[in-house]
Amino acid sequence: MGWSGRCVAAAERRLSLGTRANVDYAWLDLTAPEYRHHYAGFCNQTLWPLLHGLTDRVRGNPEDYRAYRSVNHLFAWRLAPLLQPDDCVWIHDYHLIPLGAELRALGVRNRIGFFLHTPCPSPVAWRALPMHGPLLASLRAYDLIGVQTALDADGLCRLLTAVAHAPAAEFVASRIGVFPASIATGVVAALARACDDGMHACRPDRGCQRVLGVDRLDPAKGIDRRLAGFDAFLRDHPDRHGRTELLQVIPDSRRGVPGYQRLRARLNARTAAINARYRQPGWVPVHTMMKGLAAPALIGLYRTARVALLTPLRDGMNLVAKEYVAAQDPDDPGVLILSRHAGAARELAGAVPVDPEDAEQIAYAIERALTLSLPERRQRWSGMYRHLLTHDALGWYADFVSALNSAPCARLSSTPRP
Ligand code: UDP
Repeated sequence: MGWSGRCVAAAERRLSLGTRANVDYAWLDLTAPEYRHHYAGFCNQTLWPLLHGLTDRVRGNPEDYRAYRSVNHLFAWRLAPLLQPDDCVWIHDYHLIPLGAELRALGVRNRIGFFLHTPCPSPVAWRALPMHGPLLASLRAYDLIGVQTALDADGLCRLLTAVAHAPAAEFVASRIGVFPASIATGVVAALARACDDGMHACRPDRGCQRVLGVDRLDPAKGIDRRLAGFDAFLRDHPDRHGRTELLQVIPDSRRGVPGYQRLRARLNARTAAINARYRQPGWVPVHTMMKGLAAPALIGLYRTARVALLTPLRDGMNLVAKEYVAAQDPDDPGVLILSRHAGAARELAGAVPVDPEDAEQIAYAIERALTLSLPERRQRWSGMYRHLLTHDALGWYADFVSALNSAPCARLSSTPRP
């Protein structure tokens, strides 16, 4: 069940039911004010920056919070009648933190799990949010809370114990599990092999090595510092001019959030400045692609990029990093440069790690990645690929659901409504 993607007048709101690829769906409409205050406001101008350590951007507007609560209440009210006694409910991400407590308040006794896809910041960061107490207390409704990394689990345990006055730390710990989200590794690898024949369309010009970035337009993705890093790389390595390019794919995201369009303008200005400084006849150092790509085209780019440069300031996981690894040619794999602050960095030990704020370190990492020998590239890649074959999306799903089914029950405890 999720938002239908449509905004309608309250009187015209519908819950549509349908089946696609053997999965039953329920799509719920929102009103325009709900979209503005719940989604654009509280979710993406308050919770998202808070969860990613961008505390200067946190808005914390009470009207946004009221809409957030009322949309969560609405979801509960529409979902509860659809539930069968043996269903288990798996709620995803920061948009729906209080949904479990809302369901409990309606008498739902099913197992309910929650997964936080983003990082979990420190109690100090949460305290900046006036409504953090009731919001975090509502997490007590869940039988199981999944997070991406051990660091996030530790943060959440401390948070629930310190801020939300949850019961003893052991009780909290027994309800929190680490389940790193993943990709359909075999499918990505097969698609990558399949696009080898038509690959000439994706390849950079002859003799040019491509460094690839792929991120939604978002301040947490660190694209600005990444461009500064590529700028420093070009400054330090004139021998690479004409032979190396950066292709940055940046699909639009969250148009309703004001800072995002300013970020686009900043990235365009920085790209133009780098190109003005270094371009030569027949070579433009930085290309930006502002639209989103469908899987086959994206996988073709992964397959032909010598280096993936993924430097989020903070990221719950970063699935692009995993997809890049899965899409490599085993005989001639590329190199992954990955921010230390991406959840994926905890698993992808063969990546070249960087501090995403440090342009000089990014510049150094690019040169290092471009000079790694073939045996070294193969060695780094094969360990990561093997890991992804045994830790894929289906495994993630199965691990969470089986842990949810055997978790200690929260449903008898009284859970305050947020
Ligand atoms: N993606 C896509 N087309 C694009 C760019 C990205 O389909 O043009 C997909 C990408 O394949 C990945 C997802 O969007 O599966 C991004 O996930 P990630 O965890 O890296 O970042 P998020 O956007 O969730 O913060």
